[in-house]
Amino acid sequence: MAVVLWIGVDDTDWAGGGCTTYVGAILIRRLSRLGFRLVGFPRLVRLNPNCPFKTRGNAAVAFRVVGGGVEAAVDAVRGVVEELAGMESEGTEPGAVLLEGEPDEVLRRFYWRALHEIISIDEGLRVAEKVGARVLRWKKGRGVIGALAAIGADLSSKTYELIAHRRPEYWGTVRQIDEESVYRMDEATRPLTFDNVDYETGEIRIAPHTPCPVLFGIRGVSPEAVVRAFRMVEVREPVAMVTVFETNQGTDAHILPMRVSMLRDGVSAMVEGTVVGKPRYDAGGHLFFKISDGTGTLTCAVYEPTRSLRHVASKLMPGDEVTVYGAVKLKPQGLTLNVEKIHVRRVAEIYMGRPPTCPRCGVRMKSLGSFQGYKCRRCGLRKGVEAVELRRVERGLRPGVYEVPPSARRHLSKPLILEDARRRPQASSVCF
Ligand SMILES: [Zn+2]
Repeated sequence: MAVVLWIGVDDTDWAGGGCTTYVGAILIRRLSRLGFRLVGFPRLVRLNPNCPFKTRGNAAVAFRVVGGGVEAAVDAVRGVVEELAGMESEGTEPGAVLLEGEPDEVLRRFYWRALHEIISIDEGLRVAEKVGARVLRWKKGRGVIGALAAIGADLSSKTYELIAHRRPEYWGTVRQIDEESVYRMDEATRPLTFDNVDYETGEIRIAPHTPCPVLFGIRGVSPEAVVRAFRMVEVREPVAMVTVFETNQGTDAHILPMRVSMLRDGVSAMVEGTVVGKPRYDAGGHLFFKISDGTGTLTCAVYEPTRSLRHVASKLMPGDEVTVYGAVKLKPQGLTLNVEKIHVRRVAEIYMGRPPTCPRCGVRMKSLGSFQGYKCRRCGLRKGVEAVELRRVERGLRPGVYEVPPSARRHLSKPLILEDARRRPQASSVCF
C-alpha cells in the first residue's frame, strides 16, 4: 500500500518578496521529479488574520503525496526551503512538517485554534510530537504552527485559487498583464470567480503589488472556473508555473459567533445587536457606531477605505437590529470591531415630532419648549404636547447584507457574491 505523506510549509516569505505559495509550487514539482505523486489539490490555508507576527497574508501551504519515503521528502523540503526562503530576512521563521498518514482530530482542533487564537511555537512543537509528525525548523521556526495547521485544515467549506508564478528574472519588474482582458475575464466568469476587479476603485485585484514571485491569482468556486478564467487573461511575459490550490479563503472560517461580553482583543467575530446612539464621524473620516446585545455595548468602526459600506453604516439609527462581522481590537475607547460586513436585519421605524397646525388658522403652531405644548402665533390657541405631529422618517436604508469592497476585504472573508455562485463538480487535481 502506498504511504500517504502530508507536507506543510509556512513562514518562508520575506518583506522584499518571496512567497510560501512559490516554495510550495516548486517543492511539488521537485518531489514529482523524485517519483512522488501529488494526491488531490495542494492547500493554501489562511490563519488568524489578527496574528501580530503575520507576514502579508498569513498563509501556509500543505499538500499530500504518495510514491516515496519520508527521508527523500525531508531532503527535498530542506533543499527547497533553504534555497528559496528569505532566511536572512528578520521575521522570517520557516517551518515545515511531514506527517505520514492522514491528519486526525488533534490536528483538526489545532487548525481551528490557529485560525482564532495566537499559538506559541512550543505548543506547535508539542502537537507535532503528539501526532508523530516530523518537524523541520529554521531560526525559531514559527512556521511550524502554520505548517501543522494547514495539514489539519478543515476544508469542508472551501474555494480555489489558481496562482500563476513568475520566472525569477521578472521578479520585481512591472507585471505584464493586459488589464482589459482581466475585465473581460471577470465579466465572463463572475460569480464563479470573485474579487478580480474592485469596481469601486477600478483596480485590478488579481495581481499583487509586491516584488514577490506571484504573477497573479484568480479565486473561484471550482477548479474549472479558475482554469477557464486563467485562459482568458492575456499576459506579455512567460508564466513559470500554474498551480490550483484549494483554500479556506472566502469562507468566513475565521469568524466566531459571539456575545459582546465574550469578545476579546484579536478575535474575529460576528455579533448580533441593536444600534444605540447615532453613528458619528471622527476627524479622519472614519465612522463609529455602537451596538448593544444585553451583555454589553460594543463600538463598531467603519474605516474610510471601506467606502460604500461606510455610507450604509452612516444611515444607521438607534433601534436598528444588525449583525456585524469583523476583527476585534482593543482601542483607547475599549474593544472595537472593525466592520467588514454588516447584516441589517431590521430597520427601526423612527418618527420625528413637530408642532401641529392650528385647527382654526391652518398655520404651524409654535412650541413653548419641551413638554410645554404649543401656541398659535395668530389666534393664541394653546394645545398640549399630545397634539404633536408625528412624521415617519424616510430611512433610506433597506434590510440586507452590506460588505467592504474587494480592496478592503480580508482573504478569509466570504464575499456576498459567493452566496450566488453555484457549486460545480470537482476535478481531482489541476497542476501544470
Ligand atoms: Zn390659530
